[in-house]
Amino acid sequence: MWRVRIHGRGGQGIKTAGQILGTAGFYSGYQAQDFPLYGAERRGAPVIAFTRISEEDILERGPISSPDIILIGDETLLNDPQSAPLCGADPSTVIFINSARIPDQLSEKFSVKTADLTELCLKRLNNRSIYGSALSAVGACLLGTIDLQVFLLAMEDELTQHGISHQMLKGNIDLVSEIFSIIEPAVISQRTEEAITAKSLVSPSLLPVIDGAPIILNPGNMVLHKTGNWRVERPEIDLERCNDCLICYARCPDGVIGLTPEGRPEINYEYCKGCMICAQECAGHFIQTVRETGTFP
Ligand code: SF4
Ligand code: SF4
Repeated sequence: MWRVRIHGRGGQGIKTAGQILGTAGFYSGYQAQDFPLYGAERRGAPVIAFTRISEEDILERGPISSPDIILIGDETLLNDPQSAPLCGADPSTVIFINSARIPDQLSEKFSVKTADLTELCLKRLNNRSIYGSALSAVGACLLGTIDLQVFLLAMEDELTQHGISHQMLKGNIDLVSEIFSIIEPAVISQRTEEAITAKSLVSPSLLPVIDGAPIILNPGNMVLHKTGNWRVERPEIDLERCNDCLICYARCPDGVIGLTPEGRPEINYEYCKGCMICAQECAGHFIQTVRETGTFP
């Protein structure tokens, strides 16, 4: 059995990635199982999806604590304790990171592969942050047991259910075909049942009822939740050209654009989630979009 765990953020198509990979495995003649795990449905919050593919009946249930392959759609998740994407990894785990960089510290401990899916998605889909088909294609390539044509059929079936346009489907086909041409199959070791069941995943536990209720018991606690690491893209204000109209200040949905003592707009990157509404609202286009690359641990 191959166990694949996919990490990303709400809105990046992580659940879809697990579904496409599972369906592609099934269409290839294997047994397959896929399901996501996330908390409140919220764009930017960490999301995990799981896919099991096997020649035998799949009797395992629940989250994959000891994956053969970990696909990480957003490298900033490496520093996010809520996501903990490396949890359960050992030297035999193949780790893929959507990144243009080679992470030396991780390469010393694990089998790490990278590709800049964000740029590929921009090129083929004109979208930097939807990785459903891209990540599942990487998973299929690393497994080396799923044919491109079968994968495309599975992807089309899954994406059609989401009402995808003909143009976007064509873009996804081009994207996946390119990924199949650059990602080589990985060497995946056989693991014992003992090795697989020995580790426990960081899994969500049920909160006491009072904490889980949809009420705010501690007003003003937003300051504790530094959401800046949700960002895939960073807004940067060109202060040379900015005319201080403060439209961005008024329109930021999270209120993270403040004013300097001189009355100029200033973004607080500890909390900015990178929604880019400010960039869309700036009439002079004085807010640039810069790719966020995060840091490796
Ligand atoms: S909307 Fe644009 S011009 Fe206005 S304050 Fe913001 S960055 Fe400056
Ligand atoms: S991207 Fe702009 S609008 Fe969105 S949270 Fe950051 S500063 Fe606010």
